[in-house]
Amino acid sequence: MDNHPRKLEDRYGRKLTYLRLSVTDRCNLRCMYCIPRTGIQKVQHADVLSYEELFRLCRIAVDLGINKIRVTGGEPLVRIDIDKFLLQLANISGLSEVTLTTNGVLLSSFLESFKAAGIRRINISLDTLVRGKYEFITGRDCLPPVLDSIDRAYKAGFDPVKINVVVMRGINDDEVEDLARLSMDRPFHIRFIEYMPMGGSSQDFTDLYMPSSEVAVLIEEALGSLDPIPAKKGDGPARRYKIKGAAGEIGFISAVSNHFCASCNRLRLTATGRLRTCLLSDMETDLKSPLRQGASDSELAGLFQNGVLQKPERHSIGVPDSLGIKGRMSAIGG
Ligand code: SAM
Repeated sequence: MDNHPRKLEDRYGRKLTYLRLSVTDRCNLRCMYCIPRTGIQKVQHADVLSYEELFRLCRIAVDLGINKIRVTGGEPLVRIDIDKFLLQLANISGLSEVTLTTNGVLLSSFLESFKAAGIRRINISLDTLVRGKYEFITGRDCLPPVLDSIDRAYKAGFDPVKINVVVMRGINDDEVEDLARLSMDRPFHIRFIEYMPMGGSSQDFTDLYMPSSEVAVLIEEALGSLDPIPAKKGDGPARRYKIKGAAGEIGFISAVSNHFCASCNRLRLTATGRLRTCLLSDMETDLKSPLRQGASDSELAGLFQNGVLQKPERHSIGVPDSLGIKGRMSAIGG
Protein backbone atom coordinates (compact mmCIF):
# COMPACT_ATOMS: atom_id res chain seq x y z
CA MET A 1 0.00 0.00 0.00
CA ASP A 2 1.23 3.53 -0.76
CA ASN A 3 2.34 5.97 1.88
CA HIS A 4 -0.23 7.52 4.18
CA PRO A 5 -0.30 8.02 7.94
CA ARG A 6 -1.59 4.73 9.27
CA LYS A 7 -4.26 5.75 11.65
CA LEU A 8 -7.89 6.69 11.98
CA GLU A 9 -8.40 9.49 14.42
CA ASP A 10 -11.28 11.94 14.66
CA ARG A 11 -11.34 15.65 15.50
CA TYR A 12 -11.77 14.87 19.20
CA GLY A 13 -8.72 12.65 19.45
CA ARG A 14 -10.67 9.39 19.48
CA LYS A 15 -8.87 6.52 17.77
CA LEU A 16 -11.15 4.33 15.70
CA THR A 17 -10.21 0.68 16.08
CA TYR A 18 -13.51 -1.18 15.75
CA LEU A 19 -15.46 -1.68 12.54
CA ARG A 20 -19.00 -2.95 12.30
CA LEU A 21 -19.32 -4.42 8.87
CA SER A 22 -22.76 -4.92 7.43
CA VAL A 23 -22.51 -7.61 4.75
CA THR A 24 -26.13 -7.37 3.63
CA ASP A 25 -29.22 -5.26 4.14
CA ARG A 26 -31.43 -8.38 3.86
CA CYS A 27 -32.88 -10.10 6.88
CA ASN A 28 -35.03 -13.16 7.53
CA LEU A 29 -36.80 -11.39 10.44
CA ARG A 30 -38.87 -8.20 10.64
CA CYS A 31 -38.10 -6.94 14.13
CA MET A 32 -40.43 -4.19 15.28
CA TYR A 33 -37.56 -1.96 16.47
CA CYS A 34 -35.50 -2.33 13.34
CA ILE A 35 -37.91 -2.04 10.43
CA PRO A 36 -38.80 1.55 9.53
CA ARG A 37 -42.47 2.51 9.67
CA THR A 38 -42.23 3.46 6.03
CA GLY A 39 -41.25 -0.13 5.14
CA ILE A 40 -38.01 -1.50 3.80
CA GLN A 41 -36.51 -0.25 0.60
CA LYS A 42 -34.55 -3.14 -0.79
CA VAL A 43 -31.14 -2.23 -2.05
CA GLN A 44 -30.44 -3.28 -5.64
CA HIS A 45 -28.16 -6.29 -5.87
CA ALA A 46 -25.63 -4.32 -7.93
CA ASP A 47 -25.34 -1.71 -5.18
CA VAL A 48 -24.24 -4.26 -2.60
CA LEU A 49 -20.49 -4.63 -2.42
CA SER A 50 -19.08 -7.96 -3.51
CA TYR A 51 -17.05 -9.92 -0.96
CA GLU A 52 -13.94 -8.90 -2.87
CA GLU A 53 -14.84 -5.22 -2.47
CA LEU A 54 -15.74 -5.61 1.20
CA PHE A 55 -12.52 -7.47 1.80
CA ARG A 56 -10.45 -4.77 0.15
CA LEU A 57 -12.04 -2.02 2.26
CA CYS A 58 -11.54 -4.10 5.40
CA ARG A 59 -7.89 -4.70 4.56
CA ILE A 60 -7.37 -0.95 4.12
CA ALA A 61 -9.22 -0.25 7.38
CA VAL A 62 -7.01 -2.74 9.23
CA ASP A 63 -3.96 -1.08 7.74
CA LEU A 64 -5.29 2.15 9.26
CA GLY A 65 -5.56 0.66 12.74
CA ILE A 66 -8.87 -1.19 12.86
CA ASN A 67 -8.15 -4.27 14.99
CA LYS A 68 -11.61 -5.70 15.50
CA ILE A 69 -14.35 -6.32 12.96
CA ARG A 70 -17.88 -7.30 13.91
CA VAL A 71 -19.82 -8.75 11.01
CA THR A 72 -23.48 -7.84 11.09
CA GLY A 73 -26.37 -6.98 8.78
CA GLY A 74 -29.32 -7.12 8.07
CA GLU A 75 -28.80 -10.73 8.95
CA PRO A 76 -25.27 -11.77 7.97
CA LEU A 77 -26.09 -15.46 7.69
CA VAL A 78 -28.56 -14.96 4.84
CA ARG A 79 -25.73 -13.91 2.54
CA ILE A 80 -24.45 -16.84 0.54
CA ASP A 81 -20.90 -18.03 1.32
CA ILE A 82 -20.70 -15.98 4.51
CA ASP A 83 -18.57 -18.72 6.10
CA LYS A 84 -15.96 -18.45 3.35
CA PHE A 85 -15.91 -14.67 3.69
CA LEU A 86 -15.44 -14.85 7.46
CA LEU A 87 -12.53 -17.21 7.00
CA GLN A 88 -10.94 -14.76 4.58
CA LEU A 89 -11.51 -11.82 6.95
CA ALA A 90 -10.10 -13.68 9.92
CA ASN A 91 -6.86 -14.13 7.98
CA ILE A 92 -6.18 -10.41 7.52
CA SER A 93 -2.93 -9.84 9.31
CA GLY A 94 -3.12 -7.16 11.97
CA LEU A 95 -6.70 -7.97 12.82
CA SER A 96 -6.99 -9.35 16.34
CA GLU A 97 -10.61 -10.39 16.24
CA VAL A 98 -13.57 -11.10 13.99
CA THR A 99 -16.92 -11.42 15.74
CA LEU A 100 -20.46 -11.85 14.57
CA THR A 101 -23.91 -10.57 15.50
CA THR A 102 -26.74 -12.77 14.29
CA ASN A 103 -30.38 -13.44 15.06
CA GLY A 104 -29.39 -17.10 15.39
CA VAL A 105 -32.14 -18.49 13.15
CA LEU A 106 -29.66 -20.09 10.71
CA LEU A 107 -26.68 -20.28 13.03
CA SER A 108 -26.54 -23.94 14.06
CA SER A 109 -25.46 -25.25 10.67
CA PHE A 110 -22.60 -22.70 10.50
CA LEU A 111 -21.09 -23.24 13.93
CA GLU A 112 -18.39 -25.69 12.90
CA SER A 113 -17.19 -23.61 9.97
CA PHE A 114 -17.16 -20.42 12.07
CA LYS A 115 -15.11 -22.19 14.70
CA ALA A 116 -12.71 -23.39 12.04
CA ALA A 117 -12.40 -19.78 10.84
CA GLY A 118 -11.18 -18.85 14.32
CA ILE A 119 -14.31 -17.04 15.47
CA ARG A 120 -14.66 -17.42 19.22
CA ARG A 121 -17.29 -14.89 20.24
CA ILE A 122 -20.82 -14.65 18.94
CA ASN A 123 -23.67 -12.29 19.80
CA ILE A 124 -27.14 -13.69 19.33
CA SER A 125 -30.24 -11.50 19.52
CA LEU A 126 -33.05 -12.83 21.69
CA ASP A 127 -35.69 -10.52 23.14
CA THR A 128 -38.12 -13.06 24.58
CA LEU A 129 -38.41 -16.69 25.65
CA VAL A 130 -42.09 -16.88 24.72
CA ARG A 131 -42.75 -18.28 21.27
CA GLY A 132 -45.82 -16.21 20.44
CA LYS A 133 -44.13 -13.04 21.61
CA TYR A 134 -41.06 -13.85 19.54
CA GLU A 135 -43.31 -14.01 16.50
CA PHE A 136 -44.96 -10.73 17.52
CA ILE A 137 -41.61 -8.92 17.90
CA THR A 138 -39.83 -10.41 14.90
CA GLY A 139 -42.69 -11.20 12.55
CA ARG A 140 -41.54 -14.85 12.30
CA ASP A 141 -42.20 -18.00 14.33
CA CYS A 142 -38.51 -18.78 14.81
CA LEU A 143 -37.86 -19.06 18.54
CA PRO A 144 -37.07 -22.84 18.55
CA PRO A 145 -34.14 -22.67 16.07
CA VAL A 146 -32.71 -19.64 17.90
CA LEU A 147 -32.77 -21.43 21.27
CA ASP A 148 -31.24 -24.47 19.61
CA SER A 149 -28.43 -22.32 18.14
CA ILE A 150 -27.68 -20.77 21.52
CA ASP A 151 -27.45 -24.23 23.08
CA ARG A 152 -25.22 -25.55 20.30
CA ALA A 153 -23.00 -22.48 20.27
CA TYR A 154 -22.34 -22.99 23.98
CA LYS A 155 -21.67 -26.72 23.52
CA ALA A 156 -19.39 -26.02 20.56
CA GLY A 157 -17.22 -23.89 22.87
CA PHE A 158 -17.96 -20.34 21.72
CA ASP A 159 -16.95 -18.18 24.64
CA PRO A 160 -18.63 -16.02 25.50
CA VAL A 161 -21.98 -16.51 23.87
CA LYS A 162 -23.55 -13.08 24.29
CA ILE A 163 -27.30 -12.68 24.17
CA ASN A 164 -28.55 -9.26 23.08
CA VAL A 165 -31.91 -8.24 24.53
CA VAL A 166 -33.55 -4.98 23.46
CA VAL A 167 -35.80 -4.09 26.38
CA MET A 168 -39.17 -2.61 25.42
CA ARG A 169 -41.62 -1.34 27.99
CA GLY A 170 -44.87 -3.24 27.89
CA ILE A 171 -43.48 -5.79 25.43
CA ASN A 172 -40.72 -7.80 27.12
CA ASP A 173 -39.96 -5.97 30.39
CA ASP A 174 -41.96 -8.71 32.15
CA GLU A 175 -39.27 -11.19 31.04
CA VAL A 176 -36.22 -9.34 32.32
CA GLU A 177 -35.91 -11.77 35.25
CA ASP A 178 -36.21 -14.89 33.06
CA LEU A 179 -33.71 -13.55 30.55
CA ALA A 180 -31.27 -12.54 33.31
CA ARG A 181 -31.59 -16.05 34.76
CA LEU A 182 -30.02 -17.43 31.59
CA SER A 183 -26.72 -16.19 33.04
CA MET A 184 -27.05 -18.36 36.16
CA ASP A 185 -26.21 -21.90 35.02
CA ARG A 186 -24.24 -21.24 31.87
CA PRO A 187 -21.57 -18.60 31.24
CA PHE A 188 -23.80 -16.58 28.95
CA HIS A 189 -23.42 -12.82 28.88
CA ILE A 190 -26.90 -11.32 28.81
CA ARG A 191 -26.73 -7.77 27.49
CA PHE A 192 -29.75 -5.59 28.05
CA ILE A 193 -29.74 -2.91 25.35
CA GLU A 194 -31.68 0.32 25.60
CA TYR A 195 -34.15 0.76 22.79
CA MET A 196 -32.83 3.36 20.35
CA PRO A 197 -34.99 5.37 17.95
CA MET A 198 -33.42 3.95 14.82
CA GLY A 199 -36.11 3.41 12.24
CA GLY A 200 -39.33 3.16 14.22
CA SER A 201 -41.30 6.34 14.85
CA SER A 202 -40.44 8.68 17.71
CA GLN A 203 -43.83 7.83 19.21
CA ASP A 204 -42.73 4.18 19.48
CA PHE A 205 -39.57 5.36 21.15
CA THR A 206 -41.43 7.38 23.79
CA ASP A 207 -43.70 4.45 24.57
CA LEU A 208 -41.20 1.61 24.41
CA TYR A 209 -37.98 3.08 25.76
CA MET A 210 -36.95 1.81 29.19
CA PRO A 211 -33.72 2.99 30.82
CA SER A 212 -31.17 0.44 31.99
CA SER A 213 -31.56 1.75 35.55
CA GLU A 214 -35.11 0.37 35.64
CA VAL A 215 -34.03 -2.94 34.14
CA ALA A 216 -31.34 -3.24 36.80
CA VAL A 217 -33.89 -2.66 39.57
CA LEU A 218 -36.10 -5.43 38.16
CA ILE A 219 -33.15 -7.84 38.17
CA GLU A 220 -31.99 -6.92 41.67
CA GLU A 221 -35.49 -7.25 43.11
CA ALA A 222 -35.82 -10.74 41.65
CA LEU A 223 -32.32 -12.18 41.80
CA GLY A 224 -30.31 -10.17 44.32
CA SER A 225 -27.61 -7.58 43.98
CA LEU A 226 -25.66 -7.03 40.80
CA ASP A 227 -21.96 -6.97 41.59
CA PRO A 228 -19.95 -4.77 39.21
CA ILE A 229 -17.20 -6.42 37.19
CA PRO A 230 -14.28 -4.00 36.90
CA ALA A 231 -13.85 -2.72 33.35
CA LYS A 232 -10.81 -3.99 31.43
CA LYS A 233 -9.00 -2.32 28.58
CA GLY A 234 -10.68 -3.31 25.34
CA ASP A 235 -14.10 -3.77 26.96
CA GLY A 236 -16.97 -2.57 24.81
CA PRO A 237 -19.65 -0.12 25.92
CA ALA A 238 -21.49 -2.64 28.14
CA ARG A 239 -21.27 -2.06 31.89
CA ARG A 240 -20.80 -5.50 33.31
CA TYR A 241 -22.24 -7.13 36.42
CA LYS A 242 -22.66 -10.53 37.95
CA ILE A 243 -25.50 -12.01 39.96
CA LYS A 244 -24.15 -13.86 43.01
CA GLY A 245 -23.32 -17.45 42.13
CA ALA A 246 -23.92 -16.94 38.41
CA ALA A 247 -21.77 -18.64 35.80
CA GLY A 248 -22.25 -15.75 33.39
CA GLU A 249 -22.72 -11.99 33.37
CA ILE A 250 -25.26 -9.26 32.94
CA GLY A 251 -24.40 -6.23 30.82
CA PHE A 252 -26.16 -2.95 30.17
CA ILE A 253 -25.73 -1.00 26.97
CA SER A 254 -27.22 2.37 27.70
CA ALA A 255 -26.65 4.43 24.58
CA VAL A 256 -29.58 6.71 25.40
CA SER A 257 -29.48 7.35 29.16
CA ASN A 258 -25.74 7.21 29.58
CA HIS A 259 -24.07 7.59 26.24
CA PHE A 260 -20.52 6.36 25.80
CA CYS A 261 -19.67 8.73 22.94
CA ALA A 262 -16.52 10.07 24.64
CA SER A 263 -14.89 6.66 24.39
CA CYS A 264 -16.55 5.53 21.16
CA ASN A 265 -14.02 3.79 18.92
CA ARG A 266 -16.52 2.57 16.33
CA LEU A 267 -17.12 2.91 12.66
CA ARG A 268 -19.73 1.25 10.52
CA LEU A 269 -19.42 0.20 6.90
CA THR A 270 -22.72 -0.54 5.18
CA ALA A 271 -23.26 -3.28 2.62
CA THR A 272 -23.44 -0.56 -0.03
CA GLY A 273 -20.02 0.78 0.89
CA ARG A 274 -20.99 3.78 2.97
CA LEU A 275 -18.89 4.69 5.94
CA ARG A 276 -20.88 5.83 8.95
CA THR A 277 -19.17 7.27 11.96
CA CYS A 278 -22.08 7.15 14.40
CA LEU A 279 -24.85 4.57 14.67
CA LEU A 280 -27.33 7.29 15.49
CA SER A 281 -26.44 9.73 12.74
CA ASP A 282 -27.21 9.53 9.02
CA MET A 283 -23.99 11.22 7.99
CA GLU A 284 -21.97 8.99 5.69
CA THR A 285 -19.10 8.87 3.24
CA ASP A 286 -19.52 7.03 -0.05
CA LEU A 287 -16.63 4.62 -0.57
CA LYS A 288 -18.34 2.50 -3.21
CA SER A 289 -18.25 5.03 -6.05
CA PRO A 290 -14.53 5.79 -5.77
CA LEU A 291 -13.82 2.09 -5.23
CA ARG A 292 -15.64 1.19 -8.44
CA GLN A 293 -14.10 4.11 -10.32
CA GLY A 294 -10.64 2.71 -9.74
CA ALA A 295 -9.40 4.55 -6.62
CA SER A 296 -6.07 3.30 -5.28
CA ASP A 297 -5.68 1.87 -1.78
CA SER A 298 -4.07 5.11 -0.73
CA GLU A 299 -6.98 7.19 -2.05
CA LEU A 300 -9.47 4.95 -0.29
CA ALA A 301 -7.45 5.20 2.91
CA GLY A 302 -7.62 8.99 2.59
CA LEU A 303 -11.40 8.77 2.23
CA PHE A 304 -11.61 6.68 5.40
CA GLN A 305 -9.50 9.26 7.19
CA ASN A 306 -11.56 12.21 5.95
CA GLY A 307 -14.81 10.40 6.72
CA VAL A 308 -13.70 9.85 10.28
CA LEU A 309 -13.28 13.60 10.71
CA GLN A 310 -17.07 13.86 10.43
CA LYS A 311 -17.64 11.76 13.54
CA PRO A 312 -19.87 13.87 15.79
CA GLU A 313 -18.65 14.55 19.29
CA ARG A 314 -21.73 12.81 20.60
CA HIS A 315 -25.14 11.68 19.40
CA SER A 316 -28.13 13.82 20.18
CA ILE A 317 -30.68 11.24 21.28
CA GLY A 318 -31.91 11.74 24.82
CA VAL A 319 -34.27 10.08 27.24
CA PRO A 320 -37.91 10.84 26.31
CA ASP A 321 -39.18 13.87 28.24
CA SER A 322 -42.09 11.85 29.60
CA LEU A 323 -39.62 9.89 31.77
CA GLY A 324 -38.14 13.07 33.23
CA ILE A 325 -35.49 12.67 35.86
CA LYS A 326 -36.46 9.03 36.46
CA GLY A 327 -35.20 8.11 33.02
CA ARG A 328 -32.02 10.08 33.39
CA MET A 329 -31.03 8.81 36.82
CA SER A 330 -28.53 6.13 36.46
CA ALA A 331 -28.36 3.93 39.49
CA ILE A 332 -26.64 1.24 37.49
CA GLY A 333 -25.11 1.48 34.11
CA GLY A 334 -27.28 4.43 33.17
N1 SAM B 1 -29.65 -9.56 12.26
C1 SAM B 1 -28.65 -9.53 13.29
C2 SAM B 1 -29.27 -9.63 14.66
O1 SAM B 1 -30.50 -9.68 14.76
O2 SAM B 1 -28.54 -9.69 15.64
C3 SAM B 1 -27.67 -8.39 13.19
C4 SAM B 1 -28.21 -7.02 12.91
S1 SAM B 1 -29.13 -6.28 14.22
C5 SAM B 1 -29.54 -4.72 13.53
C6 SAM B 1 -27.89 -5.95 15.41
C7 SAM B 1 -28.38 -5.64 16.80
O3 SAM B 1 -29.00 -4.38 16.80
C8 SAM B 1 -29.37 -6.62 17.36
O4 SAM B 1 -28.93 -7.12 18.60
C9 SAM B 1 -30.61 -5.80 17.54
O5 SAM B 1 -31.34 -6.24 18.63
C10 SAM B 1 -30.05 -4.41 17.73
N2 SAM B 1 -31.02 -3.36 17.39
C11 SAM B 1 -31.68 -3.19 16.23
N3 SAM B 1 -32.51 -2.13 16.29
C12 SAM B 1 -32.38 -1.62 17.53
C13 SAM B 1 -32.97 -0.51 18.22
N4 SAM B 1 -33.90 0.24 17.64
N5 SAM B 1 -32.57 -0.27 19.49
C14 SAM B 1 -31.65 -1.04 20.08
N6 SAM B 1 -31.06 -2.10 19.49
C15 SAM B 1 -31.42 -2.38 18.23
